[in-house]
Amino acid sequence: MNKTDKIIFQAKKEGRTILLEPEAKAVCIDYGIPVTKFNVAKNEKEAADFATKIGFPVVLKIISPEIIHKTEAGGVKVNLKTPEEVKAAYNTILINTKKYNAKANIVGILVQEMAPQSTEVIIGSVKDATFGQTVMFGLGGIFVEMLKDVTFRVAPLTRQDALSMVTEIKAYSLLKGYRNSPAVDIDAIVDALMRVSKLVMDHPEIKELDLNPIMVYETGAKAVDTRIILEPSF
Ligand code: ADP
Ligand code: MG
Repeated sequence: MNKTDKIIFQAKKEGRTILLEPEAKAVCIDYGIPVTKFNVAKNEKEAADFATKIGFPVVLKIISPEIIHKTEAGGVKVNLKTPEEVKAAYNTILINTKKYNAKANIVGILVQEMAPQSTEVIIGSVKDATFGQTVMFGLGGIFVEMLKDVTFRVAPLTRQDALSMVTEIKAYSLLKGYRNSPAVDIDAIVDALMRVSKLVMDHPEIKELDLNPIMVYETGAKAVDTRIILEPSF
C-alpha cells in the first residue's frame, strides 16, 4: 500500500467519507502537488511552537470531519504574526466552531504557512455517473462563483488537454499578465492538473476533490486548501 492508499484505508476504517485537511494535503504531497507547510496542533502552546518552526505569518484552521466549509464556521484565521496572536486565534477558532456546531468532533487545529497573496486558481474533480473522473479548472473568487468561467475534461488528461484548459477560460488574459501584474507560471498549473488527473484515475474511490484555492506565482504554485471526498461505498 502506498501513502495515499493508507490514508484512504484509515478514513474508511473510521467510517469517514471526508479526508481531514492534513490527510488531503498528505495525499497531494504523495502525488507531487505542492501545498503549504503544515502541522497539527492539539493545544495553544503546540500551535505557537509549530508557527515559530514554520515561520510567521501563519494561518490557523479548524480540523473536523463535521466542518467542511471552515470559513463559514469561523474556523480560519489568516496572517497571524506572533506566538501570542497564534494562541489567541487558536482559542477563538475553538469557540467559533463550537458555537457553529456543538457536536463537531475537533481533531486539532492546523497550523500552516501563510502563502503570499497572489492569483488564486481552482482545480477540482468530480466523478460523473457517465464519464467517470473529470477535472475542472478555473480562476478563484468571482470568476468561478459568479461568472462560471470554468472548464472541464474527462480524465485522464494529456498535457495538451491540461494546457488547453488553462488557455480556454475567459480569464486566461489575467494569467498571461496585465498592466503591472506579471504572468503567472502556466507550467505549474498544467503540472498540477496532470497530477490531479493521475491521482483521481489511480483512486476511483475519490468522489470529489477540490483544491480551492491554489496560489499561483511567477514561479511555482501552492494549494492552500485541499478537500477530498470519498465514495460512501467502495
Ligand atoms: P474554506 O474554503 O474551508 O472556508 P480555506 O482553507 O480555503 O477554507 O481558507 C479560506 C481562505 O483563506 C482561502 O480562500 C484563502 O484566501 C485564505 N487562506 C487559507 N489558507 C491560506 C494560506 N495557507 N495562505 C494564504 N491564504 C490562505
Ligand atoms: Mg477553500
